[in-house]
Amino acid sequence: MRRQHRTKIVATLGPATSSKEKIAELFDAGVDVFRLNFSHGTQEDHRANYDTIRELEYQTGRPIAVLMDLQGPKLRIGAFASGPVTLEAKASFRLDREDRPGDATRVTLPHPEIFRAIEPGTNLLLDDGRIGLEIKECGDDFADCVVVLGGELSDRKGVNVPGVVLPVSPLTRKDQDDLRFGLDLGVDWVGLSFVQRPEDIAEARKLIAARAAICAKLEKPAAIDRLEEIIELSDAVMVARGDLGVEMLPEDVPVLQKRIIRACRQTGKPVIVATQMLESMIDAPTPTRAEASDVATAVYDGADAVMLSAETAAGKYPVEAASMMNRIIERVQKAPNYRRMIDAEELEPEATAADAISAAARQVAHTLSATAIVTFTTSGSTTLRAARERPEVPIIGLTPNVKTARRLAIVWGVHSVHSSDARDFQDMVTKASHFAVSDGFANASDRIIITAGVPFGTPGATNVLRITRVEVDDR
Ligand code: PGA
Ligand code: MN
Repeated sequence: MRRQHRTKIVATLGPATSSKEKIAELFDAGVDVFRLNFSHGTQEDHRANYDTIRELEYQTGRPIAVLMDLQGPKLRIGAFASGPVTLEAKASFRLDREDRPGDATRVTLPHPEIFRAIEPGTNLLLDDGRIGLEIKECGDDFADCVVVLGGELSDRKGVNVPGVVLPVSPLTRKDQDDLRFGLDLGVDWVGLSFVQRPEDIAEARKLIAARAAICAKLEKPAAIDRLEEIIELSDAVMVARGDLGVEMLPEDVPVLQKRIIRACRQTGKPVIVATQMLESMIDAPTPTRAEASDVATAVYDGADAVMLSAETAAGKYPVEAASMMNRIIERVQKAPNYRRMIDAEELEPEATAADAISAAARQVAHTLSATAIVTFTTSGSTTLRAARERPEVPIIGLTPNVKTARRLAIVWGVHSVHSSDARDFQDMVTKASHFAVSDGFANASDRIIITAGVPFGTPGATNVLRITRVEVDDR
């Protein structure tokens, strides 16, 4: 089964889509990756969805990636004694560690680490930036603030401390518990929320080991300060524009989005653009023109994937949102300026055999009008390098490792296939031909380009490029 879209689609599951029918409809609409958002729902809810996805994978024979998204150290205030309070601009307001309900003059902030990291002059944002406080005086267990941006404040709203690196672990106790649960289920990707430092990725990597790939969510200015190092240590990143837009100015977000996509394309790490892409489709069957344009921009920039959050998790039109995203991607791919814009990102191959062969495969496929590049891969790294080239023709990633096949579902232009390894040169051509034809990427006598590593069956660097006409097998 062949998909036309090369930029992949990630859809978040939630109350609107937690049934076999809806998950199958989302898949049919073009979803490649399902996101289980552990900020919401119970572990049992996620288990049920996970099982449904694997059943669907079995029925369709197509590898599907599951991204578990950890809540991360989201900071929150405590509750109020009698409902929401109104904070007037210029009024005083205290945050403290007292264990009692708040009122219009104070509320609990149950995070000792914040009190240690702030100082007079620090700004705090509450409720996604709707309320702003400036610290006047603070100690180990209190902060006296003046209200800069007033408004209504209710129980357990989120707190952001822009520009301050907080001494908090990226994995709370809930995250560690969820992570154990998700890894036991068999998730393919783990989304780490509120990453601040490269060490955060290293810490998570110790717990995850090789059981899943790591997607760092970039949603803190501190992470942007060390962007290159964080990308280097991660397997993929997400431009998490929701929280990023709280701590940075709205006009900064599109600029950062382009910078992050560029940095990821240079290093060949997959990048997901997320949040509010088709936001109005939570309540309406069609998006705004600006939203359609936003999805198109990510596609033109060569992002690996675009993501739906509340649109599919809790919206009224989840399947319509996924199919709208698919339509926008396919439309942009057909535009005459698409190729030019993808190629505008100049990429030098690194001095490795895998890159030399990937660059050559792209070039040869173009020169000979081949219909596909078939990569044999164990870890997926060869296929990632082929995708980094953003070739004109589809990339088929053949792998004996089902986890690799699933992980690759997130990657630009890759159609992954779980299959046994090639035994020898003839078997390599036979297998590549077989899947190119059966999955709709080539007809009899079309040319395909194959990349592989010899000796066969041992994971290692790619060192072979083979040009062939497909051999239609009669097995
Ligand atoms: P979230 O992350 O949906 O988990 O908050 C994405 C974002 O912040 O954009
Ligand atoms: Mn977020």
